[in-house]
Amino acid sequence: DLSTTIAEAARLLAGARDVTLLSHINPDADTLGSALAVGLALHRRGVAVRVAFGDPEAVPESLKALDTAGLLVHRDEVPEAPELLVVMDTGSLERLGPLKNRVANCRGPVIVVDHHVSNTRYGTVHCIDDRAEATALIALKLLDEMNVEVDEPIARCIYAGLVTDTGGFRKAGPQAHHTAARLLETGVDAYAVTRPLMDAHPFAYLGMLSRVLAKAELDQNAAHGMGLAHAIVSIEDAHGVRSEEVESVIDVVRSAAEAEVAAVLKELKPGFWSVSLRAVSRVDVREVAQVLGGGGHRLAAGFTFEGAAEQVVAALKGALERVES
Ligand code: 5GP
Ligand code: MN
Ligand code: MN
Repeated sequence: DLSTTIAEAARLLAGARDVTLLSHINPDADTLGSALAVGLALHRRGVAVRVAFGDPEAVPESLKALDTAGLLVHRDEVPEAPELLVVMDTGSLERLGPLKNRVANCRGPVIVVDHHVSNTRYGTVHCIDDRAEATALIALKLLDEMNVEVDEPIARCIYAGLVTDTGGFRKAGPQAHHTAARLLETGVDAYAVTRPLMDAHPFAYLGMLSRVLAKAELDQNAAHGMGLAHAIVSIEDAHGVRSEEVESVIDVVRSAAEAEVAAVLKELKPGFWSVSLRAVSRVDVREVAQVLGGGGHRLAAGFTFEGAAEQVVAALKGALERVES
């Protein structure tokens, strides 16, 4: 069970000299916050630590404030055969992108800290709890087991993961709120963490959003008589805005009250799409995503697809029909 594997992970980390922490591609605050929090604790204990993810680009602007000790490195600086790996918030090896081979090459244990139901159980030590609202909550359990003093720089990282994965605590239960109180008591400035993550965008975002939303569509009957709202962000639409801006389009599209399911198709390369799915409550979008080779959670999932935008929408509607509500 979880307390056994967390104890095992804490024991392994207590004896480690060199630790590599990995986040999933297209990193969010949960995966990076979890990695940076545990990384920071180890760094302070004199362990050689690096945090990385598989994309070639730099870390998202909105997440830079979490890396108070400069632990983030470019993916090229990750050792080919790491001594010990900790993989955060990553349901499958594919989500590590080009760093996925480090798991097989690792010379020591591979600790997986995650909350995806669809976790494929790669790695050797599984600190996995699909009822956790954020991986950051499991990372905090690990820090407590390691007897780490959770001060503001560490708490900030955990809080960032918690606030994003709970949709600004809209979906959070009492335990998450208790934990949030504990984190804030260390001096975390909630709004300073949250605004760049969830509320602030460069002005160019407004122009991109207006073009994308002008083309958004609602199909009232796509999901078992419930609505599907979708929007398409082509390469041209995304020109001049950061990936974080593109990622936040889904939060606007999902506000359509008629839509049980919201989708945003993001063109990564010509004809290659990353699709974000969100449901309100009744459709399991993880199942929908899995039909199309992706994964995620019941109410937030995603998949990638090659083809024209219309083909992606058709495939999505087909998958929605196959999945029960
Ligand atoms: P987002 O829309 O924020 O990128 O992703 C929402 C959720 O879906 C995340 O928790 C992530 O784990 C999952 N997800 C997104 N894209 C993919 C994908 O291509 N493959 C898999 N397996 N999961 C994905
Ligand atoms: Mn994540
Ligand atoms: Mn997460």
